[in-house]
Amino acid sequence: MTPTTPRHELPALPYAMDALAPHISKQTLEFHYGKHHRTYVDNVNKLTAGTELAELPLEDLVRRVAGDATKTGVFNNAAQVWNHTFYWRSMRPKGGGKPDSALGALIDKSFGDFDRFKQALATAATTQFGSGWGWLVVDGGDLKVVSTANADLPLVRGQTPLLTVDVWEHAYYLDYQNRRADYVATFLDHLVNWEFATANLEQARK
Ligand code: MN
Repeated sequence: MTPTTPRHELPALPYAMDALAPHISKQTLEFHYGKHHRTYVDNVNKLTAGTELAELPLEDLVRRVAGDATKTGVFNNAAQVWNHTFYWRSMRPKGGGKPDSALGALIDKSFGDFDRFKQALATAATTQFGSGWGWLVVDGGDLKVVSTANADLPLVRGQTPLLTVDVWEHAYYLDYQNRRADYVATFLDHLVNWEFATANLEQARK
């Protein structure tokens, strides 16, 4: 078989490595984006090279191997590539604040009010045992907060993610040590990118 250019590439970080400081340090992003995310990309390319999975776009690949016990390694690495790309975009420098009126109204309808939504996401993210992710998703006509373990993601459960927070220790340990709750509160107050969530909601409704 002729060697081909690896299908999957590390997407550019949507801001500079130091752009989220002091909330998330340059050092964390250098490891988290530069090492962890890159390794997942390299692993997907290695694990799919020369197989019938090699030419699939990332999201198709994730859906194809989800639940296949013989493809756990491919799923874990491909899903982690997808999750991290989505996580970087779920944050922005000087983020936080509140969503626009349409998304805000849907949050009020689904959770009662904005503070109850924040509490729900904080609880889901801090009580996820071990490694995983906290998510705001569209499920049917409603919004829900869910958590997933390890590489698992709402896409393969029929839910459309609007934003995510990574709660693997590598996401916060250098900056917050064991204080996951402080990291999640900071994500909500200073980092979350509501414009990204709104764009995802509009896409989901098309
Ligand atoms: Mn991570």
